[in-house]
Amino acid sequence: MVPPYKHEPLTDFTVEANKKAFEDALKKVEAEFGKDYPLTIGGERVSTEEKIVSINPANKTEVIGRVSKANKDIAEKAMKVADEAFRWWSKTRPEARADILLRAAAIVRRRKHEFSAWMVKEAGKPWKEADADTAEAIDFMEYYARQMLKLKDGIPVESRPGETNRFFYIPLGVGVVISPWNFPFAIMAGTTVASLVTGNTVLLKPASATPVVAYKFAEVLEEAGLPAGVLNYIPGSGSEVGDYLVDHPRTRFISFTGSRDVGIRIYERAAKVHPGQIWLKRVIAEMGGKDAIVVDKEADLELAAQSIVASAFGFSGQKCSACSRAIVLEDVYDQVLNRVVELTKQLKVGDPAEQSTFMGPVIDQSAYNKIMEYIEIGKQEGRLMTGGAGDDSKGFFIQPTVFADVDANARIMQEEIFGPVLAFAKAKDFDHALEIANNTEYGLTGAVISRNRANLEKAREEFHVGNLYFNRGCTGAIVGYQPFGGFNMSGTDSKAGGPDYLILHMQAKTVSEMF
Ligand code: NAP
Repeated sequence: MVPPYKHEPLTDFTVEANKKAFEDALKKVEAEFGKDYPLTIGGERVSTEEKIVSINPANKTEVIGRVSKANKDIAEKAMKVADEAFRWWSKTRPEARADILLRAAAIVRRRKHEFSAWMVKEAGKPWKEADADTAEAIDFMEYYARQMLKLKDGIPVESRPGETNRFFYIPLGVGVVISPWNFPFAIMAGTTVASLVTGNTVLLKPASATPVVAYKFAEVLEEAGLPAGVLNYIPGSGSEVGDYLVDHPRTRFISFTGSRDVGIRIYERAAKVHPGQIWLKRVIAEMGGKDAIVVDKEADLELAAQSIVASAFGFSGQKCSACSRAIVLEDVYDQVLNRVVELTKQLKVGDPAEQSTFMGPVIDQSAYNKIMEYIEIGKQEGRLMTGGAGDDSKGFFIQPTVFADVDANARIMQEEIFGPVLAFAKAKDFDHALEIANNTEYGLTGAVISRNRANLEKAREEFHVGNLYFNRGCTGAIVGYQPFGGFNMSGTDSKAGGPDYLILHMQAKTVSEMF
């Protein structure tokens, strides 16, 4: 019997032993910098001439690793291997597949700080953020293993006398998993293992900014007993290898997490039926957000300010769930704004390898340039209260930035910036606040800070987001507790870490027998 699911606790770094263990993990990882990593296809290690060079965004000169890069020929080879492996992997017992996830979770738990340390260095995550990312990866494995055990015999249906009806799920085929850099472990691992445990084979194309942590995870799955060919690790350029795999007639489904524009592109391309293709591809897409925290006039204003700051600037605002809009009722607007500015000024920006750092760099030069452009736009659209500056001489550092008095239709209130930039908008009353909150093409997360029960109930009905939080921030969903995924341009509303997520990776079969 597998014990009931419980989420992985976060590490308390005020405990000296934990701090020391994390520092040791950082040293261990540093000692491995600059190594070459091959692709893995059918269990074989494949090295290519062309490499993806993964760097530390806090220190551009530090090379985390050089990762072989798949091209179309290699992607084709990987597809053949995955297609072949599907024949037998789809027939393995669900219990055996679930066991691999549980063993992998145990391996990662033992090497928890090491994985987090890779993310400190490769993604620029501060300690706590990296620790939470690793914990979430463990949670996905533990949770989906149990979900598969629940779903393995299907769901009971009625039968008439003389008839036996069975309704059960079978795998789909080869899945292409395309993951983002911002949760380089949790989302990459979660989308991969959900596809595997349901009996599909996988071509994993991680984000080009964070391929090393993905390689390390592929190794763990191998160690946990995943047979060769079931998971094929093929980093490469999104536009080259990504398009090729999305278009491929043997691709059965695509599990994508990333930006709105790439998600739309994949959705459109996947809809086209190519010669030799005998199915309609399924797309599971988790895309961007323009998330808001609404502050009512009857509210704990200190909680509001703390929640806004943590949600806006945690991991430099590079979360799909990050708060980029604070919508505050005019009665308390100045009070909340001033407190947010005060708290923001206290945040420590710097090297995430130092424990005291709250905010590290943004991921790369193009993210840095894009965010700085939005800050210039923000200066036209609002009142700069704090921040507004950046420094990309050593790493890609941007000060946490707050703009006040921004119009609901301004660009910085509409477009996903994906950086440490927060816009404040004033609302006349609670209805107006909800109207502003819903005035976006996205619908991922949102929060309401209020003591007014009627307003909370109104928000429950009318605030159109996939993940709505009351009296807390809008980030930090926990697997199995807050299934996660958004509406509208935030994706296909697949709820990762929820009870119906695995079903998206399978198809239901009904068998009816007369006797
Ligand atoms: P991105 O630029 O869209 O990239 C995501 C992945 O797509 C990467 O692996 C990328 O590869 C690949 N890709 C790029 N072009 C492609 C193409 N033409 N065909 C197939 N794949 C392609 O997003 P990101 O910058 O990594 O991540 C940030 C975005 O993800 C934000 O918008 C954020 O809101 C969203 N996100 C959403 C969720 C959610 O649950 N809703 C969670 C996390 C992040 P390369 O790296 O090689 O370009």
